[in-house]
Amino acid sequence: MIKKFNHIAIAVSDIEKSIPIYEVITGKKVKEILTVKEQGVKVAIFDIKGVLLELIQPLDLENPIAKFINSRGNAIHHIAYSVNDIEKTIKEYSELGYRMIGDKPRIGAEGKPIIFMHPKSSDGILMEFVEDKEE
Ligand code: ZN
Repeated sequence: MIKKFNHIAIAVSDIEKSIPIYEVITGKKVKEILTVKEQGVKVAIFDIKGVLLELIQPLDLENPIAKFINSRGNAIHHIAYSVNDIEKTIKEYSELGYRMIGDKPRIGAEGKPIIFMHPKSSDGILMEFVEDKEE
């Protein structure tokens, strides 16, 4: 069903403070910093040999990521896997009784179709699936 890790997303309250820390730890320069207005977040991307590490900072206090940070502090927000065919993935998991958030994929920050599995189905961890045909 899944091919590999696509990215690990970490919620942070102050991305400018976090970036240099992650640059030292990973030994890599941040690859890209983008603002995703529709989701109300700023994202810093590190490329760790094809697996991305994404730091996500909410742009306002009403954002779900802000609420997440309020209760947990900086923490891993979700992990994402690459899949060949997102529609097929949704169908396969729903046949097994696993619930997604929404029933249709949407386009994620990288311009690829994504969907999240409901944490109630995935043992409390938010999981995302990204359609990535190239790998
Ligand atoms: Zn993600």
